[in-house]
Amino acid sequence: MSEYSNPLPSSSTSKGSSEQSDRANGIHAPSSVLPLKRAKLNSGEDSIRNNFGTPLQTRVASPCTLNPPIDFDGLSWPSQGARSRIEQTPEEAKARELRIAGAVKTILSELGEDVDREGLLETPERYARAMLFFTKGYEDNIRDVIKRAVFEENHDEMVIVRDIEIYSLCEHHLVPFFGKAHIAYIPNKRVLGLSKLARLAEMYARRFQVQERLTKQIAMALSEILKPRGVAVVLEATHMCMVSRGVQKTGSSTTTSCMLGCFRDQQKTREEFLTLLGRH
Ligand SMILES: [Zn+2]
Repeated sequence: MSEYSNPLPSSSTSKGSSEQSDRANGIHAPSSVLPLKRAKLNSGEDSIRNNFGTPLQTRVASPCTLNPPIDFDGLSWPSQGARSRIEQTPEEAKARELRIAGAVKTILSELGEDVDREGLLETPERYARAMLFFTKGYEDNIRDVIKRAVFEENHDEMVIVRDIEIYSLCEHHLVPFFGKAHIAYIPNKRVLGLSKLARLAEMYARRFQVQERLTKQIAMALSEILKPRGVAVVLEATHMCMVSRGVQKTGSSTTTSCMLGCFRDQQKTREEFLTLLGRH
């Protein structure tokens, strides 16, 4: 595990010919590029696209494209306050919970509820604890998640774990989205204990997410940990913000995928994966 004790070079996750296209998407853009990019944005450049081919109107600063998958201390794309949550004393944790509960009380009374009626009495504290649980993935350390489950193994066939249950929170509406993740990789002399694939998915799901980023983070982290020949992640999820409000398309689900390395470069590998998933 000593390899995780040092900062990892930001370009090390992209493998083979996927590296160039990842760069083109701004993934792991070296930090020295960023000020230049901002300067260009601020200079009123009238071209509608920047160096990365991204339309200027879109927000490119997704944490998983600007930062390496694993930080110097083993955290992976932590939230701004993740380290203060990890380092807090029990008293500080209690104070945090009470502050969240206070805010929830405000929401309830603004919604017209009587916060003193019996059914709601302990709801704010309960909700605070639930939210801390739903977002606990920010605090997870890759070293603890992986433990000693990376093995040297001369296996070079596709490994697939299907139907990993996922529960996450949509960061736009703070309501759940949930479904199944399918994770595959083709090893390059190293394999990961199978249950760790589910742990990895859980680590990124227990955060505020968009499904696309969750998919990408699982794939990029696995790629960083194992340096495999390729990684593929497919996520199928139902979003409560979509099925329970607005258009109310009950039963609709969203599928996202992220293919890296040989899954991206080789159609045959990709097709084998999709066939094994029963999608072809
Ligand atoms: Zn939403």
